[in-house]
Amino acid sequence: MYPVLIVEDEKAIADLIEMTLEGFGYRCVKAFDGEQAADLIDKDRFDLILLDVMLPGIDGFSLMEYIMPTGTPVIFLTAKSSVEDRVRGLRAGAYDYIIKPFAPDELLARVDGLMRHTGRRNRTIRVWDAEINPDVRTVTKNGSTVSLTPREFDLLMVFVLNQGIVLYRDVLFERVWRLDSEANTRTLDIHISRLRKKLGWEHQIRSVPKIGYILEAEP
Ligand code: CA
Repeated sequence: MYPVLIVEDEKAIADLIEMTLEGFGYRCVKAFDGEQAADLIDKDRFDLILLDVMLPGIDGFSLMEYIMPTGTPVIFLTAKSSVEDRVRGLRAGAYDYIIKPFAPDELLARVDGLMRHTGRRNRTIRVWDAEINPDVRTVTKNGSTVSLTPREFDLLMVFVLNQGIVLYRDVLFERVWRLDSEANTRTLDIHISRLRKKLGWEHQIRSVPKIGYILEAEP
C-alpha cells in the first residue's frame, strides 16, 4: 500500500480523493490545515502529497517549502485556474497540478502516472501462486501470463487489497462496477467464477453464504 497525504480543508473534496484512490493500492491520510499537515510530514513518510493551495493558516505554497527537503513528490490541487498560480506551484517544485473541480478518473490517472514516473510504483505483489503487477495490470502464474479482462483484474485487486477479509457482495459490486447501471450482482457472480477458473483459485476465493466472498489469507 502506498501512503498518500491529502492536505485539503474542504472535507468533501478530501473524502472524494480518498474514495478515488482507495482500492487502487493507496492508503490515504488526511490533513485539514497546514499545521496538521506539517506534523504528519514530520512523523510519517509518504509516497505522495496532494496539496491544496488555499488552506487556513499556512498555505500550500508555504507548506511546499517545508515539504521540499523531504523529497516527497507533490501534486497541487488548486481551485484557481490562473496561470500564475500553476507556474508558481511548479516553480516551487510540484510535479503536477490538478485544477478543481476534477474528475476522479483524471486524478487517479495523474497519481498513477506520477508514481510510475518517480519509480515508486513498480512492485509486483505475490498472492498465493500468482504474481500481480498492479501498475501494468498483469498477472502471471508459474511464469505464464493469466489473461484477465479489465473488470476481472479490478475485481482481483479488490480481493488482494482486502485479503483475509470477508467482502459483502454489494461492496465488491460497487467497487468494481461503480455506477454502471447495466450491471447487476449476477454479473459479479459470473466474474468471480471466471476469475477462480482462470487463476485455479477454486478454494482461495471462497463464498461466504448470505454475505459475499473472501480471498483466503495464506497460511
Ligand atoms: Ca482550500
